[in-house]
Amino acid sequence: MSDAPFDLLIRGGNVIDGTGAPAVRADVALRGGRIAEIGRPEGSAKHVIEAAGLMVAPGFIDVHAHDDAAVLSTPMDFKLMQGVTTDIVGNCGAGVAPVEPGSGPSIPGADIVLGPLPEPSWRTFGEYMDAVDEAHPAINVGCLVPHGAVRAHSLGLAPRAPDDRELAAMRDDVAEGMAAGALGLSTGLIYPPGIFARTEEIIALNRAVSEHGGVYVSHIRDEAGGLLEAVAEAVRIGREGGTPVQISHHKASGRSNRGKTAESIAYIEAQRAAGLDVTFDVYPYTAASTVLAVMRRAPEALDPNEVLVASCREKREYEGKTIAQIAQMLDLPPDDAMDRVLAEEPGATAIFFIMDETDVRRVLSHPLCMIGSDGLPSPTGKPHPRLYGTFARVLGTYVRQERLLTLEEAVRKMTSLPARRFRLLERGELREGWCADIVVFDPERVEDVATYQDPRRYPVGIEWVIVNGQVAAERGTQTPARAGRVVRRDRRD
Ligand SMILES: [Zn+2]
Repeated sequence: MSDAPFDLLIRGGNVIDGTGAPAVRADVALRGGRIAEIGRPEGSAKHVIEAAGLMVAPGFIDVHAHDDAAVLSTPMDFKLMQGVTTDIVGNCGAGVAPVEPGSGPSIPGADIVLGPLPEPSWRTFGEYMDAVDEAHPAINVGCLVPHGAVRAHSLGLAPRAPDDRELAAMRDDVAEGMAAGALGLSTGLIYPPGIFARTEEIIALNRAVSEHGGVYVSHIRDEAGGLLEAVAEAVRIGREGGTPVQISHHKASGRSNRGKTAESIAYIEAQRAAGLDVTFDVYPYTAASTVLAVMRRAPEALDPNEVLVASCREKREYEGKTIAQIAQMLDLPPDDAMDRVLAEEPGATAIFFIMDETDVRRVLSHPLCMIGSDGLPSPTGKPHPRLYGTFARVLGTYVRQERLLTLEEAVRKMTSLPARRFRLLERGELREGWCADIVVFDPERVEDVATYQDPRRYPVGIEWVIVNGQVAAERGTQTPARAGRVVRRDRRD
């Protein structure tokens, strides 16, 4: 038996602590899943990683994940291999709990959006979180209580307001999840059933979140023509419900709304000056991706050249083609071709080239902005490359090539900023005594290589990924380690 004082020593790297402070040359020693020492630790280690020329940073936190089912049923390679050590699921109001046993997914195509769904062994949200722990995921998982699932549990997909009894039941479900350690409440106000909720309903539920110190996270009601009103609604829900607010995947959608993020961010800054804690996140691409049926119903017309079918299980030959190409294939007008895709597969997902690079850069470079992939872990088709590439793309494209951000600032957006926002205890920074979630990467090589036509490709330059002290990926290969766990909200004040 080795009597080495350390389990693992990361030697000679440039350490970025996650706070935005400049990198410093140091060794990092790990013991018992924690960071034992940073500096020049004395003594031997069972394993050594030679990190000369590499960056050593806190593991990345994906604040906007849809891996609610994938964390139970997949190795989570698509996140781990980009350096993500903590995934925050339950976003956009979509999720897999609370649920009645045997009721199946409440929303068509949920398995495309959330990953392959095993038969639920849980009922409440707290039981779902326990099931995630028992599945021993490869990365850590933080959970938001999804408003859509809570609403469906009480009202199904009914397009009306809840009565007093239904609202009380929804409040109980939210409170149960929060008491079990959920990080907050999410809404998806363009998707059924969230789209049926009035502002007052969400304020009432958000008060239960406030009692537990959680955050309100929203895919807001409109990211196009009504962007500013939708941000104002989220702000009102936070103010009257008593919580901080996180605006998800902040964007201005559609050609006629280009530049609007200048106004939305100015508004957010003014709200902060007035005392409300509002932050946001972004994925570093000009294309969005979601369920085709939802965008089809939106008031803005879709350009058939700017809509790419991602997943259509019943008609695989549509995947990777634009609506314009499918229209040509079928010899139909574009609108009819879109309807044909939806007739084949009501839950089909697509990619929409609807953003302007200037808006993406403005949002991404803002100090209040975190990084969230919004990846949809569909087991089939050609998912948006953000599922595999988001974090490497920020580091390769926006730090090294375009110099939009410093490396330290980009890492801060991926680590300490989200850890503080979501109250993740002792994560998001490299500090002695804290959890050993670490990524070692090559700043000269790191790059996303996933594309719209070939999206299932791991980034290059992510050399080691360590989850709770265990090596989970080594030189671009995932290890058998399953060291992740549910991260519950820090209850200290
Ligand atoms: Zn969303």
